[in-house]
Amino acid sequence: MVTAVVSLTGLGLVAAFGLSLASKKFHVEIDPRLEIIEGILPGLNCGACGYAGCPGFAVGLLAGESEPTGCAPGGEVVISQLAEFLGLDVGDVVKKIAVLQCGGTNEKAAMDAQYEGVQDCRAAILIGGGGKACRYSCVGYGTCEAVCPFDAIVMKPDGLPIVYADKCTACNKCVVACPRDVLALEPLNHEVRVSCSSTDTGGRVRKVCQVGCTGCGICEKVCPVEAVKVDNSLALINPDKCVECGICADNCPQDTILDGMLPRSPVFISDACNGCTICAKVCPFDAIQGETKELHVVDPERCTGCQLCVERCNVSAISVAKN
Ligand code: SF4
Repeated sequence: MVTAVVSLTGLGLVAAFGLSLASKKFHVEIDPRLEIIEGILPGLNCGACGYAGCPGFAVGLLAGESEPTGCAPGGEVVISQLAEFLGLDVGDVVKKIAVLQCGGTNEKAAMDAQYEGVQDCRAAILIGGGGKACRYSCVGYGTCEAVCPFDAIVMKPDGLPIVYADKCTACNKCVVACPRDVLALEPLNHEVRVSCSSTDTGGRVRKVCQVGCTGCGICEKVCPVEAVKVDNSLALINPDKCVECGICADNCPQDTILDGMLPRSPVFISDACNGCTICAKVCPFDAIQGETKELHVVDPERCTGCQLCVERCNVSAISVAKN
């Protein structure tokens, strides 16, 4: 009996010593900043940042692998707090929302099958491609609406979903769930958008959709700031270059480009103008005329309201006209 007690005590002491040594050897320092960052993050664990959840994003931030703007659902407040805590400058934070890149309503898109199964886009695509003839189109069974935790997506009677910008947190759940990849997160303040994802050739697009991009290249030609490029038969707009003038949308023969900025207000120039001519030089539409050192004027017929001149005027003499 005594031997057993002594043996067990000895074994216990050896084990305790071993554990103590292991805890010292394998001790991992936890960065106290992690807890603070997790406290700032919204705790949705939605994955919009590209990590499995908020704790993973916090680690990525501290490792310098991520930017505060990666947490789109956190919005301006969270992003600013993260930037301030990390001592970073994120500039003007732009809210993103989910945007539909398809205009093929039930009326405009051709059908090549009738799907009658479970009302789920993923299931529909597995059986006969979902019914619409365009293999890039929204199939319209509302999986995005079903997965949206914020009620920001509603299916319309025309067969396409609408995203309510005020409710959308850019959590990315609909983007991930959409089997056709026709939803993408885009800056809210860029409202001239291509509502098509098809890279089929023009002839094929014309057969399956009345509003599909045929890659004709007119938008690329008319864009005054080289923000539009046609790649693989599909027009793409670079939001960093786009000035939202809407000329591409005006000229698109397929009505594929949507202009959410309408109606635009032209600008006017006040007496504060010193005739430096910068506005006339930056205007892509030749809408501003005037001699050097004289008051310049805006031709409202030509002005698209892009406001490039407003940003460049050194004496703040240009304002947006009230409708
Ligand atoms: S956007 Fe995607 S998920 Fe939503 S209805 Fe269309 S195909 Fe389905």
